[in-house]
Amino acid sequence: MGKNKDMDLLKNGKRIDGRGKEDLRELEAKAGILKRADGSGYFRMGNTEAVAAVFGPRELHPKHKQKPQRGILQCRYNLAPFSVDDRKRPGPSRRGKEIGKVAEGALSSAVFLEEFPTATIDVYMEVISADAGTRCVALNAGSIALADAGIPMKGLISSCAAGKIEDTPVLDLKGEEDMNGQVDLPIAMNAETGEITLLQMDGMTDIEEMDEMMDLAIKGCKKVAEKQKEALMETF
Ligand code: UDP
Repeated sequence: MGKNKDMDLLKNGKRIDGRGKEDLRELEAKAGILKRADGSGYFRMGNTEAVAAVFGPRELHPKHKQKPQRGILQCRYNLAPFSVDDRKRPGPSRRGKEIGKVAEGALSSAVFLEEFPTATIDVYMEVISADAGTRCVALNAGSIALADAGIPMKGLISSCAAGKIEDTPVLDLKGEEDMNGQVDLPIAMNAETGEITLLQMDGMTDIEEMDEMMDLAIKGCKKVAEKQKEALMETF
């Protein structure tokens, strides 16, 4: 996040890719794309793409990690080396671990984990193309994969970011906007219950702007939820 004075991110109400302030990038969603997983999903927002695979529920090992009253979700987020312009160093990173952790929190609240004592459900989210919003797109694919695996859920988790560019709140930042903008505010929500399950922020804002960005992001999540549902319906 940092403003590049040479870059016009907003001109006559239009963004660098021609979108208006409240427009999402093009969305695409698929369910059941991987043969070997118990459930799988794909999600794309513009040039950011992720696939997700779910395995389980299965008994968690080592045993001391088990929870007697409920199952747990274990999430892995990985940015593929070929997903970014400068090849990313393969293997775990602090950023990846952090996103895996927050994804665990974001998805867990939607799953009836009490139905699976001592078990784990593993969610692998692989970003195959990155142009900002990768945690959101990974979560959207992960949630489709959980539903595709037949895991009982209180609703799908849907995610997108709002942000601020040229002092203006906008929906769903793309790479150049994320890099040269002022705020990035990714959220995830359960579109059935309205519960916000992830909220992170990079940059500076005030209460009014925060409200405006939250409203935009919530509208975005609802559109994402529609796309996720369409993909799941197609597999029936
Ligand atoms: N990015 C990158 N290499 C990295 C991490 C990030 O090129 O190792 C790019 C990528 O396009 C990503 C963007 O920076 O989408 C923004 O990353 P951020 O950490 O804000 O997370 P995201 O918006 O992807 O959830």
